[in-house]
Amino acid sequence: MLLKFAMIRATIKRFEEKALKGEGLSYDEGCELINLPVSHFFDILASSEKVRKFFKGNEVNLCSIINAKSGLCAENCTFCSQSVHYDTGVKTYPMTEPQKIVETAKAASLNGAREFSIVTSGTSVNKDSDVAVLIEALKNMKNEMPVERCASLGIMNAETLQKLKDAGLQSYHHNLETARSFFPNICTTHDYEEDVNTVRTAKRLGLYTCCGGVFGLGESREQRVELATTLRGLDVDSIPINFLNPRPGTPLENANNLTPIECLKIIALFRFMLPAKDIVICGGRQANLRDMQCLIFAAGANGMMIGNYLTTLGRPPEEDLQMVKDLGLTPKR
Ligand code: SF4
Repeated sequence: MLLKFAMIRATIKRFEEKALKGEGLSYDEGCELINLPVSHFFDILASSEKVRKFFKGNEVNLCSIINAKSGLCAENCTFCSQSVHYDTGVKTYPMTEPQKIVETAKAASLNGAREFSIVTSGTSVNKDSDVAVLIEALKNMKNEMPVERCASLGIMNAETLQKLKDAGLQSYHHNLETARSFFPNICTTHDYEEDVNTVRTAKRLGLYTCCGGVFGLGESREQRVELATTLRGLDVDSIPINFLNPRPGTPLENANNLTPIECLKIIALFRFMLPAKDIVICGGRQANLRDMQCLIFAAGANGMMIGNYLTTLGRPPEEDLQMVKDLGLTPKR
């Protein structure tokens, strides 16, 4: 028994040393890590925190979003309350006025957000009038405040992304949502490769790429490792990690696949597999981690979303800022 305990600790130490060299764990090593017994949970966190500190120091990236166009999406992602395929009662509205986007960004900046993302529902943004709104909002954000400008607009072509980049877009967010092998279980209205191509296009245009997924959809632990491996192959810059907060009316409304410890192990897995990248905890943080939220940084995250989510409320930004301060961390400016 004692020998087994010592062997597992030695394995975690070996993974830590590998990650500190900037080498992510292999697929097999990732599977070994995420399947380690819960009795070693704090050993994993002690190592993932060392790796996070080594690459990211004490700074924490805080980001915030606006849901600039809500609901009526033609896609059928089973976790999403904005899909037209499900009766969720979510509020729907067309593209928000540019002034409102800019005002929301300004408020987020004053609340401590370093990055602000304009998020829209739908397969993609391709109407000229919608693109014009985004261009005006991005230009004004660039002139009026210090936030890093991000957008999440679905599957996009290079021409439109370039126009937005010319207007001031710095970062593009597009989640792959889950592993390729599990994707047909959560979406059948578009192909995984279309998402991958959007990320590749954003990267080719020189945009900082934010690309991660949602966990707790019913995927296996190995499929979480598969997603991490895919993201490493794409060389994305930042990995947003979302935990499913089941929405009434969606096919996953009764899903209950995560515990706080499982969520923290997922964060640690991504830190060990993509040691030098930004790892940002987004939707479902409060609902899934509950009183263990402050451990996200020990697990390896170096950022989190503050303020409200797309269709659910977050806790007040002051509480998150206090948590960061209490941990001896500093918001990155
Ligand atoms: S996750 Fe995005 S693409 Fe999927 S249904 Fe929701 S808004 Fe549409």
